[in-house]
Amino acid sequence: MPMPQTTSSEPDSRSFRSDFVRQSAGLRHFPALVLNADYRPLSYYPLSLWPWQEAIKAAFLDRVTIVSEYEEVVRSPSTEIRIPSVVVLKDYVAPQKTVAFTRFNLFLRDEFACQYCGATGDLTFDHVIPRAAGGVTSWQNVVAACGRCNLHKGSKSLKQVGYTLRKPPVQPSTGQLMNLGRKFPPGHLHESWMDFLYWDAELEP
Ligand SMILES: [Zn+2]
Repeated sequence: MPMPQTTSSEPDSRSFRSDFVRQSAGLRHFPALVLNADYRPLSYYPLSLWPWQEAIKAAFLDRVTIVSEYEEVVRSPSTEIRIPSVVVLKDYVAPQKTVAFTRFNLFLRDEFACQYCGATGDLTFDHVIPRAAGGVTSWQNVVAACGRCNLHKGSKSLKQVGYTLRKPPVQPSTGQLMNLGRKFPPGHLHESWMDFLYWDAELEP
């Protein structure tokens, strides 16, 4: 099958956030937005996208329904098919009940901002109660912090350096992380995806 040609509109500047979400080369051309059986994206951040080859394969295997298509077609000697732009899974995938304690999820909880000064670059982690003082590595005691604040705070307490946290560090729910992920759409969004993405929606508390 010939690879359709298109121009991609990738953002020029690589942000700190984008370092976390590396898109495979297959996603540059005609990715399909993947919706769960309830018509909500499987994941907001990174946005659930499949390379077009996978979307077409899943459609042939009857695992997805094609909801919307690109104008472009792919041809084989025997058939011609329009490339799917939105597919919905036939079987519902239940979201995980608890959120894994990972670097990515912690940064997402903290919206990729230093919890002391709000800076969004050069992020690292800080133990609120320093490890030297018995602080553990947990949702409740680790926050995103910029290099400057981290260095300044060192192994002192919040009180000693006069820092306050922008929000109390808690373990987020799956739904909360989903909602936060909606704030970080990828650089390119196809128009056919818009009906299924509510970037402007009010965030639930
Ligand atoms: Zn900071």
